[in-house]
Amino acid sequence: MSATAEHQVLLSDYEDVRVRRGRRSGLTMAVAVHRTVEGRSLGGCRMRAYATADEAVRDAERLARAMTLKAAVAGLPLGGAKGVIAVEAGARLVNSRRSDALCDFAELVESFGGRYITAQDVGTCEADIGYMSRFTKYVAGRPVADGGCGDPSRYTAHGVEVAIRASLGGGSIAGRHIVVVGLGHVGGDLARRLRQDGAELTVADIDSAKRRLAKQLDARWVSPEEALEVEADLLAPCALGGLLDRRVVERLRVPIVAGAANNQLAHEVVADQLAERGIVWAPDFVVNAGGLIAVAEELHGFNRLHVERAIAGIGDTLREIYARAEDGTNTLIAAQELAAERTDTGGSDGDDV
Ligand code: NAD
Repeated sequence: MSATAEHQVLLSDYEDVRVRRGRRSGLTMAVAVHRTVEGRSLGGCRMRAYATADEAVRDAERLARAMTLKAAVAGLPLGGAKGVIAVEAGARLVNSRRSDALCDFAELVESFGGRYITAQDVGTCEADIGYMSRFTKYVAGRPVADGGCGDPSRYTAHGVEVAIRASLGGGSIAGRHIVVVGLGHVGGDLARRLRQDGAELTVADIDSAKRRLAKQLDARWVSPEEALEVEADLLAPCALGGLLDRRVVERLRVPIVAGAANNQLAHEVVADQLAERGIVWAPDFVVNAGGLIAVAEELHGFNRLHVERAIAGIGDTLREIYARAEDGTNTLIAAQELAAERTDTGGSDGDDV
């Protein structure tokens, strides 16, 4: 298949989308498999509140497609998928309610017979993956004590750091001013890494408890809104997706955006607007592949050295994307085209087009 045809496949329909109401929990849950490669797809299980069941399914679909691109551009023989468990607004699932939801979700995972492998995502943790592994073997990112890679966030953060260095042109980041929005698993670890390397930090989070970390890191604390208007060397979005819309891009005062958050662009046309404003956007699905690289490694025996080497490759991939984008396209299209070229169509299922 030509790269252009493969590009279309990467952006096309979903192979399988299943929506269930959990037998035990009564919660709506969904898995979207965008594409399988060698009969497998991988993507985390997100647990959060959604306004409607439709919104939850759409989120799973959007994120699954991003996973296909992420795996392809990282050169991994896996398709993209995503799972969601929709909880009630303001509710935090604990104890038996949480185990019921995870058990229901594990049952949904099993129904795919190995075509979908689940992992940790926003709202779920390593212990949740360990618990689900009692009911399905199709999990990755299991606790280290069980032979897994553990919480993938630290690998994601490492990859984001590599991406930031590459985007800033290599060399030291000491004295560079970086804005980190979202100090969760990835953003918090990233901020620590950057600070350790001497970066000057401005940080923001909707959770005021994160001020403590800001203080430890000697970082300036601003509101999430203000963070988007700070004049700095780079903005690293590490909260949820959809941050970059037309209005926000108009206000940005940074030359580079490179962060962990999935689906940062509210619409794909925003990639053009960023390019027109001369802002270099590091495509999220390239930048945040570190966690996926680590959990994928677990599927055939975890080797930390392999993982570190693959994560270092994120920098080379970005440099290639930036070079291609200089020919008048934007970094999103350049990254999608590269993903298409790197996709191993030879090993994919016959029915996945
Ligand atoms: P997390 O839930 O641990 O952290 C998210 C943080 O963002 C929290 O501290 C939260 O309070 C904050 N936040 C939420 N909304 C915000 C807003 N509007 N403004 C400012 N802060 C806000 O999640 P995470 O695991 O750190 O993941 C962060 C992002 O990176 C997500 O988009 C996730 O999909 C993506 N990602 C994570 C991984 C991983 O390995 N964890 C891998 C790939 C991509």
